[in-house]
Amino acid sequence: MTDCIFCKIISGDIPGDIVYQDDDVLAFRDLTPQAPMHVLVIPKKHISTINDIQPEDAALIGKMFLAAQQVAKEEGYTERGYRTVMNCNAEAGQSVFHIHLHVLAGRAMHWPPG
Ligand code: 5GP
Ligand code: ZN
Repeated sequence: MTDCIFCKIISGDIPGDIVYQDDDVLAFRDLTPQAPMHVLVIPKKHISTINDIQPEDAALIGKMFLAAQQVAKEEGYTERGYRTVMNCNAEAGQSVFHIHLHVLAGRAMHWPPG
């Protein structure tokens, strides 16, 4: 999608601090990190929100979690722990409408989330 900032990171039109990629997913550091590690895992296919995920995307969504697991491992947080978050629509805090899995680690996390 031409006006999507994350599609532009996928295409290389705007830079991203990429930490992992394969044929289906890309992971890069968040511009405004909320924890010592804050990585966003996105599908290379444009999907706007969780509401737009289709049954045929099920494996792709699984691959996003496998990428999160891999990044956490490479950065040393497998045992310490990490949080994954995906916001859906405005009231939940979604500001970029290309689904992304936040992967946060390196500090104590609070519950419930704000
Ligand atoms: P949301 O609020 O939609 O759940 O998360 C969007 C995230 O994307 C935010 O944490 C924000 O800091 C991050 N973000 C927005 N624009 C860019 C960008 O151009 N590059 C990177 N790396 N992160 C971005
Ligand atoms: Zn997109």
